[in-house]
Amino acid sequence: MFTDDTIAAIATPLGEGGIGIVRLSGKNSVAIAEKIFSSSKDKSLRNLKSYSLAHGYILDPLTGERIDEVLVSVMRAPHSYSREDVVEINCHGGMVTLRKTLELVLKQGARLAEPGEFTKRAFINGRIDLSQAEAVLDLIRSKTDESVRIAVEQLQGGLSSMITALRDRLMDTCANVEAWIDFPEDEIEPASEHVLLGSMKEIGSELHALIKTYDEARFFREGLSTAISGRPNVGKSSLLNALLKKDRAIVTEVPGTTRDIIEEYLNINGLPLRIMDTAGIRDVNDIAEKEGVKRSLQSIENADLVLAVFDLSEPLRKEDFEVIEKINNKDTIIVLNKCDLPAAFDKDILTSHLTAKASQLLNISAVRGDGLEELKEKIFESCMKDWKEERQGVVVTNIRHKIALENAQAALNKAIYALTENHPLEILALELRDALDRLGEIVGVVTTEDILNKIFNDFCIGK
Ligand code: GDP
Repeated sequence: MFTDDTIAAIATPLGEGGIGIVRLSGKNSVAIAEKIFSSSKDKSLRNLKSYSLAHGYILDPLTGERIDEVLVSVMRAPHSYSREDVVEINCHGGMVTLRKTLELVLKQGARLAEPGEFTKRAFINGRIDLSQAEAVLDLIRSKTDESVRIAVEQLQGGLSSMITALRDRLMDTCANVEAWIDFPEDEIEPASEHVLLGSMKEIGSELHALIKTYDEARFFREGLSTAISGRPNVGKSSLLNALLKKDRAIVTEVPGTTRDIIEEYLNINGLPLRIMDTAGIRDVNDIAEKEGVKRSLQSIENADLVLAVFDLSEPLRKEDFEVIEKINNKDTIIVLNKCDLPAAFDKDILTSHLTAKASQLLNISAVRGDGLEELKEKIFESCMKDWKEERQGVVVTNIRHKIALENAQAALNKAIYALTENHPLEILALELRDALDRLGEIVGVVTTEDILNKIFNDFCIGK
């Protein structure tokens, strides 16, 4: 589908630069550019080979005024960014010449492009899918080497091909179910029901793994929020200091709270660990014991990871059990501190109160430094445990994709439930279709104007 009108915009950042580009896309691009371009070698743009340049001047056709000396490139459909005829006018990078050139092309019949419209046309004309279009924006906005790598991977279609493969498999499953609906005399046999269930579960676990990459990537982007918890005097502050000493942490203050919260960052093998409310940990001895425990328990709630500290040299107290109660559904590493002193309780007493999420126990001595390296390794492993190398670097970074994946997974789970509970096949097919549509949203097979507007409005004009 080729759109009718021709769009134009300044494609380079506004300001002074070596060159600045006015870009046109659409079936009249070449004709419009030709009206304001005077070639130094009498070459008409119409006859210019695709992917070549012409030198000349931009002239105001009404007054004959020379606006700028330029190089013009022509990239003909379908081998261009938008799959339409694209012309790029390379001006000297000053604001006035760029604006004047843009005004001239608009006067000659081009329309000012909307934000992201060049990329939107690339999508509408089928050169890239929606997730690739979004990767263009991610790439422009990337702040780190890792985010560039992820965006390029997505731009090259890494995520798209995974989603397409998953959709194909779901489509097969759905086709089977619909065939059974259409030919009810061939009832589902136990064997094929088993195969169907197996493949649905397999797709489900692949969806889960993809969703998981979003959280892992988030850790790299934003840091893993970590709470060091425990009753007063177990050695939280000593542990924090011992970890910080090794890594020369960055300390940031977050203003705007009743008392500024201090965050400190620890670097664990490239994973930034954001220690929450370190002021709270350090102040704990100054505040009443009850208040100290309360704050410690609060910080657990908002944490991605909890380091629950216990004092191995003293019998467990009521407050220790309050901490245990709080951590039971959190990813937790149990840190048994003061292992340089004789133990006053048996670890089994602790473990009998713990769930699988808090199954990692580690002896350390914050003052002597025992076990600190091991603790850092455990922290890293616990965050990275589901990271799958074989996924070849496909990482979900976009919240829209994550939500679509979660919706697909929810629909698939309902389908699995419908099958195991022997609900009518129509319900099973309905849920599978829903899962398919949700995945289709990611690559843009299924979209609404709303989704498209939301995505492309985030772009700058000219991209
Ligand atoms: P917090 O209230 O949990 O932050 O505990 P602190 O870090 O202030 O430590 C309480 C007391 O325990 C201090 O006197 C520390 O010197 C001591 N302490 C902390 N860690 C260790 C350790 O590994 N071994 C020994 N023997 N004492 C420790």
